[in-house]
Amino acid sequence: MFNLILFGPPGSGKGTQSEKLTSRYGLKHLSTGDLLRSEIAGETPLGLAVKNLMAEGKLVPDEIVIEMINSALDNHPRVNGFLFDGFPRTTGQAEALDKLLSQKGTKISLVLALQVSQQELVKRLLNRGRTSDRIDDVSEEIIAARIVEYEKKTSAVSEHYKKYGKVEYVHGEGSIEDIFELLCDVIDKKMVA
Ligand code: AMP
Repeated sequence: MFNLILFGPPGSGKGTQSEKLTSRYGLKHLSTGDLLRSEIAGETPLGLAVKNLMAEGKLVPDEIVIEMINSALDNHPRVNGFLFDGFPRTTGQAEALDKLLSQKGTKISLVLALQVSQQELVKRLLNRGRTSDRIDDVSEEIIAARIVEYEKKTSAVSEHYKKYGKVEYVHGEGSIEDIFELLCDVIDKKMVA
């Protein structure tokens, strides 16, 4: 199996690039943000429990997303690999993911970290807020809260995987196609290594 984490701050292009990467490499896309939004849309108890936190740009508790990923792994036993998008977002989630994968006899193969300047992130997110129905992209205040959560809790996830030599950095500014090719180059090299 080839298990990839696409890592980066909000607005770094994880969702866009994930779709292209999953279709090129036949990986199963697991986005905790998408899974949570579908719980909210379905007005499930879980959706109702996380709605306000997400609207404020805060992370939802580790136990909730870890359980969602645990079920998703169980529901897709025969895939070439997974692409994790927006997960793990804390070192606790990273440790839990490593454990779940090792119970299944597999592991994270590569962490691709998209690097984008803060100014560009805010510009992209405000733009997305105008064209999508994402409630957490509508104001600069909520966007700032998400970037603070990233700096405070999520950036440490790359340190966790750096210890194992699994992180590769990719410049995430430019055209979608150019960034996609940069990502593919790193993946192709890792796959043959
Ligand atoms: P995303 O679509 O990945 O930008 O996620 C949108 C929002 O969903 C985040 O701001 C969090 O409130 C929540 N969320 C998504 N993934 C996670 C995660 N792995 N841990 C905690 N909260 C998450």
